[in-house]
Amino acid sequence: MSDTTPDTVRRPLISGNWKMNLNHFEALKLVQELSYEVTRDDVDAVDVSVHPPFTDIRTVQTALESDRIPFHLGAQHCHAEPSGAFTGEVAAPMLAKLGVRYVIVGHSERREVFGETDDLVNAKVKAILKNEMVPILCVGETLDEREAGEAEAKVKAQLKAGLSRVKAEQVATMVVAYEPIWAIGTGKTASADDAQAMCQTVRSSLEATHGEDAAASARVQYGGSVKPINAAELMGQPDIDGALVGGASLEAETFAKIIQYRLHD
Ligand code: PEP
Repeated sequence: MSDTTPDTVRRPLISGNWKMNLNHFEALKLVQELSYEVTRDDVDAVDVSVHPPFTDIRTVQTALESDRIPFHLGAQHCHAEPSGAFTGEVAAPMLAKLGVRYVIVGHSERREVFGETDDLVNAKVKAILKNEMVPILCVGETLDEREAGEAEAKVKAQLKAGLSRVKAEQVATMVVAYEPIWAIGTGKTASADDAQAMCQTVRSSLEATHGEDAAASARVQYGGSVKPINAAELMGQPDIDGALVGGASLEAETFAKIIQYRLHD
């Protein structure tokens, strides 16, 4: 599952970001439990990616391949350089070699806790694309920015900088995750209307910077306390093409219900 053919029809993508949780034994158990919960029919309708910590990727890759589990392998971040003296870091070519397809980039936790700038995010986006993987570029505002009426401007600026000098045909293959920071891990979700409005802003911003075709093909996920109870309403919005799920992806039954959002409408 490593081709990067552009999706002409925007297939929903539900991604589980496991963050710094689960050792490789626990990761293997979760992916196997998830494979029992999720049917072939489910993955005919949506793409699913799992994003384990680096130490678990090889184990999860082996399980997906040997048991023919139809989930895409993901990573949570990577370094922008292909190799070198960067102690503790992992390069994009290393992930590509493991069969990783989707790489999260610019997650608010990386930006806030590890000081990742828009320029660095842009360099990582390019490294991921160069290695024929799909970036999931995260953008989103703080509560203060939302209350000050600055949310749209923040998201547009992050997109413009993060996609600077990225070709339109590459943007067409990408995923943007709109994640209001105040909704991540807090149990507070943006209303479906607010999430739709910002995802539409993301798409019109992509159109302004990279053209109509790129904007029409790129997938826009919503992330921020997505749960089985709110997944169907969020996913029913015209500009929301999937979900980036943190906490609720750590439990197979719960994540499966999000993947099967159509059944729980
Ligand atoms: C995330 O980690 O990107 C996220 C959206 O987390 P949660 O679903 O726990 O809010």
